[in-house]
Amino acid sequence: MTDTPTWVDEYHKSSRFGIYGKVLLKKNSKYQEIIIIESDYYGKALMLDGCWMTSLRDEKYYHECLVHPALNSIEKKSHILIIGGGDGGTARECLKYSQVEKIDLVEIDDEVIKVSKTFLKELGGSAWRDKRLTIHIADGGKWVEKTKDNSYDAILIDCSDPSEFSNFLFTDSFYKECKRILTKKGILATQSESPESFKNIHIHILKSLKKEFKSSETMYSFVPIYPSGIWSWTFASEEELNLSNPHSEEVTIIEKSCDIWNLNFQKAAFKMMPNKIIRELNS
Ligand code: SAM
Repeated sequence: MTDTPTWVDEYHKSSRFGIYGKVLLKKNSKYQEIIIIESDYYGKALMLDGCWMTSLRDEKYYHECLVHPALNSIEKKSHILIIGGGDGGTARECLKYSQVEKIDLVEIDDEVIKVSKTFLKELGGSAWRDKRLTIHIADGGKWVEKTKDNSYDAILIDCSDPSEFSNFLFTDSFYKECKRILTKKGILATQSESPESFKNIHIHILKSLKKEFKSSETMYSFVPIYPSGIWSWTFASEEELNLSNPHSEEVTIIEKSCDIWNLNFQKAAFKMMPNKIIRELNS
């Protein structure tokens, strides 16, 4: 692309978050504009349709928080569905668990996977070669609708912000379908946007999951390149969520393999719901 370093910005509500570096790729896929930039500080970073998705420097802030609270809270975790996740980070974290036997990764845009395998090799790492991982280029919403009941122990929704082709992944009917295809003790985990930069959709997700599932809980932490930095992940199940006492002998090994997540971090992060969000949820 260009050898001349330049600023690439995500604009959001009279603010912008820019990364300075060389643009290695800029192209349009069937669904979205894809940009890869390489910067001294963040390394290579992926932007989709003007929104930062991930960077090699801060991706673990996001991927470790989506995966480990979910997989450590369920006993049986052999069959997993990842919706979105085309950069490979979520699959990488799931494949750390020896009990995981099969992962269906359903990504709508094959270009995102191709670009991630080429420019963000370190992110997916060995996940792309792991026989337990099956890639399906399909719409996650349609995949869930055609899947039979009680199919998955965990559903991890690693999708981009609401857009023409991802809106359905934030709807009550989608969550209802997810509940149907989860096993009785299964867990749903979703990136639930920012309480600051995407407050309305954040509140909508929390209210929908509270309505659809017997129990749901939200944790808060930070993803440095995301608008306002503060982000959230919500976990829901028909069982009482067991988010403090892990169900995995491997938890100590997993903790050691992580840069951000550990059990104390998780316990604190589930106690961080801002008051204004609590007020809106109770209004
Ligand atoms: N961490 C990022 C975030 O929170 O915004 C998400 C990263 S991941 C790359 C998001 C992926 O979701 C994108 O590759 C996008 O193509 C995919 N996606 C969006 N809508 C989808 C759908 N309906 N079905 C499957 N994948 C979808």
